[in-house]
Amino acid sequence: MLDADFFRRWMAATGAAVDREADRLTQLDSPIGDADHGSNLQRGFTAVRAVLDKDAPDSPGAVLALAGRQLISTVGGASGPLYGTLLRRAGKALGDAAEVSEAELAAALRTGVDAVAALGGAAPGDKTMLDALVPAVDALEDGGFAAARSAAEHGAEATTPLQARKGRASYLGERSIGHQDPGATSSALLIAALAETAQAAA
Ligand code: ADP
Ligand code: MG
Repeated sequence: MLDADFFRRWMAATGAAVDREADRLTQLDSPIGDADHGSNLQRGFTAVRAVLDKDAPDSPGAVLALAGRQLISTVGGASGPLYGTLLRRAGKALGDAAEVSEAELAAALRTGVDAVAALGGAAPGDKTMLDALVPAVDALEDGGFAAARSAAEHGAEATTPLQARKGRASYLGERSIGHQDPGATSSALLIAALAETAQAAA
């Protein structure tokens, strides 16, 4: 079972990964965006870590809901409301249980991913974060954390030949082809941090 501390460590590991990869995320956002994805997420996850340390929510659902609200209020770009919705809705789906199972986490993330699709109007294949998140949740349901991590990484890489149909990159039309999507890349970091946290706990 996974407790609030597990979820806090997941958010901290995501923040550390975003710090490590911020330059790369911003570089990916240069040719097909406005070169702010790394700094957007760095600002967001720095604020997430600070508020989780200060408020110390005592259930998995409360950790994710607070993290999501913090991303919505601190990240200006499109990715803030989208990631914020992912975590906030997943957190609400987990309710106030003190511990949750891996299957409950997978179901909650499915709810969150569906909410991201509803908010942004995107589907897999549109060259967005959903190209990493949807395969990751599919794999988490079937195969566990390590499978989710590799599904997210493959999903992010597979955005390169796609033409963007949502978000800023879609303004470029065919010129968006040939570049990996920054949001799918950061989603793979979020899922990799989950897998690392699970591995460290095992
Ligand atoms: P902005 O585009 O406002 O500068 P960011 O650079 O932080 O925001 O984030 C860009 C990422 O957000 C994209 O790479 C893409 O993955 C994701 N994104 C943008 N629009 C959507 C959408 N409608 N649905 C899902 N993801 C989206
Ligand atoms: Mg951007």
